[in-house]
Amino acid sequence: MTLKDLSIGESGIIKEVGGEGELRQHFLDMGVIPGTVATVIRFAPLGDPVELRIRGYELTLRLADADKILIDKCDDKAETEERVKSKRKEHPGLGEEGKYHSKADENPLPDEEILTFALVGNQNSGKTTLFNQLTGSNQHVGNFPGVTVDRKDGPIRNRYNTMVTDLPGIYSMSPYSSEELVSRDFVLNEKPKAIINIVDATNIERNLYLTMQLLELNIPMVVALNMMDEMTANSGSVDINEMEYLLGVPVVPISAARNEGVDELVRHAIHVAHYQERPARQDFCDEKDYGGAVHRCLHAVMHLIEDHAKSADIPIRFAANKLIEGDKLILDKLNLDENEQETLEHIVLQMEKERGLDRSAAIADMRFEFIGKLCRAAVNKPKVSKEHLRSQKIDRFLSGKYTAIPMFIIIMGAVFFLTFNVIGAFLQGLLEKLIAWLQDLTVGALESLNVSSTLQGLIKDGIFEGVGGVLSFMPIIVTLFFFLSILEDSGYIARVAFVMDKLLRRIGLSGRSIVPMLIGFGCTVPAVMSTRTLPSERDRKMTILLTPFMSCSAKVPIYAFFVAAFFPGKGWLVMTGLYLLGIVMAILVALGFKRTIFKGEAVPFVMELPNYRLPGIKNVLQLMWEKATDFIHRAFTVIMLATIVVWFLKSFDTGFNFVNDSSESILAILAGAIAPLMAPVGLGDWRICTSLISGFMAKESVVSMLEMLFAAEGGVKAVLTPAMAASLLIFSLLYTPCVAAVTSIGRELGRKWAAFTIIWQCALAWIVSFITYSILG
Ligand code: GDP
Ligand code: MG
Repeated sequence: MTLKDLSIGESGIIKEVGGEGELRQHFLDMGVIPGTVATVIRFAPLGDPVELRIRGYELTLRLADADKILIDKCDDKAETEERVKSKRKEHPGLGEEGKYHSKADENPLPDEEILTFALVGNQNSGKTTLFNQLTGSNQHVGNFPGVTVDRKDGPIRNRYNTMVTDLPGIYSMSPYSSEELVSRDFVLNEKPKAIINIVDATNIERNLYLTMQLLELNIPMVVALNMMDEMTANSGSVDINEMEYLLGVPVVPISAARNEGVDELVRHAIHVAHYQERPARQDFCDEKDYGGAVHRCLHAVMHLIEDHAKSADIPIRFAANKLIEGDKLILDKLNLDENEQETLEHIVLQMEKERGLDRSAAIADMRFEFIGKLCRAAVNKPKVSKEHLRSQKIDRFLSGKYTAIPMFIIIMGAVFFLTFNVIGAFLQGLLEKLIAWLQDLTVGALESLNVSSTLQGLIKDGIFEGVGGVLSFMPIIVTLFFFLSILEDSGYIARVAFVMDKLLRRIGLSGRSIVPMLIGFGCTVPAVMSTRTLPSERDRKMTILLTPFMSCSAKVPIYAFFVAAFFPGKGWLVMTGLYLLGIVMAILVALGFKRTIFKGEAVPFVMELPNYRLPGIKNVLQLMWEKATDFIHRAFTVIMLATIVVWFLKSFDTGFNFVNDSSESILAILAGAIAPLMAPVGLGDWRICTSLISGFMAKESVVSMLEMLFAAEGGVKAVLTPAMAASLLIFSLLYTPCVAAVTSIGRELGRKWAAFTIIWQCALAWIVSFITYSILG
């Protein structure tokens, strides 16, 4: 039988892990290996995915993936762990202020050398919290070269010549996701002076799996044992001396959220980096384990590749482990000759035969075997934690069978209500007042200085109206991110992904994409920005390209105006229809993408469900600050440039003379040129085209522009037919997102995709409008 066949509450002992390649490796790295007991906790409200308890933590899997894992049913749920009584050991004194390390071969780095640290750890282990504690607000946010994975650097507070880099949260050093590759390449190629490995003490088994791979890299390291507050509050404990002794690196118990132990951590980190104290131990394979097959295989491979690893500058033990696991990237780098490759294969085959497990599983098993020993010797796990019980209670409600989706709608509704009607709207009002006040002040000053009216026009109508208009959206974006980061840090978003996965999978996405899409109903800019947390590049691209189909709040004025003017009494019908059309188009487009440019399946849904935790206010503020500065930066660069260009086109004629009648402007001429193209969809009037072009700056300006241009003829209502109005509505819904959204897309996916979005959405809008107009007109 397979894992899929278990019902709630039943347990099975894993016999064989099917599947192949990276996904399988990912299973193994998450602790799903033969011999492990897995218990089914529940199924998502829609029946898929399933939540399992394994190695003391909660994991979600799709049923299709669970079906690949063979098990034997077993009754007893938890293996009763015999705690090994350890004899009191002297403190090994690793990383201790120079007190214990041997002076004879100490080799300190010169004082002026910058001590660079890589902060590495699992997701939800408290990395962001620790990073914020270490650096304070002095952070630099950027990207890793070539990939859109957030990179943050910052010096440690009050420590001269230090620099910490926050790496993406990862579970292993296998190249499973682009994030794991980024972390691995960073550590291997950029050679930080030391690693700070953050380990969640309440989930120690799975967290230590990464630790063991990091130790193989032979880079000075300290382990920050985080969440000790939770651990001790539930009467768990860790024998730190024993753990240091077994791991061979300093272990510092901390609570990042309460800023406890962080100073000590910094002292140890600086010490190991300065004196380049490397891990005292890397050899974790035991010759007594299962006849020692893995041990012998590993050492044989290490000897075989020693010279290659040295010349390729890859740590030997790491390289050997990766080779046995079958890592292509490392194999290519090592440049083994044919003979050596064959020998390698033979060694590995022999091991597989003796051990009775395949190569990857054998290595994963060796690591977990060691971790098991370590935990028995040094860790006193709490029986049940308060946090876990609390999480279960909350989950019964927030992701329960019947309550999950209603609760999700209520929560998102509340977020939108608070953002668009209360907090964000209030702040937006304030900011608009401020901008208006500044504008008056500036215009007054310009007038009294007798500056030319053209320049005045540029500043007033171009910059203040354009950039000011876009800027006034900032409070909304920041408020949305405030709520989002609370939802994310508390662990709720992971549940949303769990609940929604089945639905989104049908259109080739995974559960996590639901959040950006929903935010798209508010504003495309934060929606696009929030896709950063999606684990796979393919899902991220697809999600970003779909968000503009959600009717953002700036389109509402257009809808409202036309509905009132042309479809009185049927307002709600048309409005709902437009929203639905957007969603239907997104679904159709997604299905199309799935078959064409984004072939393949959504990322497998192997995800951890962390306990619900109270989000740290510092983390939330930090994120808001980042998003705000990012947006301001864009408002004053790309968006400002675009507004100036549009203002220029609107205000000058082809002889570069300032025009008062907008029908003579370059924009009118341009609009006139594209008008014939728009004639088949009923929008061939140059004034409509002008409005649509200015809608590219900000969607809400479409209506005011139309009113202004059609004023002489008694307004739009007098000129347009209902069929034209319908066509215009649909065109506005689907055509290119505004410049702020396009620059966000450009930032996430690059210029090509931004250009693609503009063109392809205009084309799509044209087609759908054409169909509508042909039917109605
Ligand atoms: P990351 O995913 O590794 O960046 O983890 P975060 O820093 O976002 O932390 C995840 C959650 O754990 C947040 O809600 C934090 O407030 C919480 N957290 C972080 N450190 C601690 C800690 O030491 N104790 C407790 N109780 N909670 C913590
Ligand atoms: Mg984080």
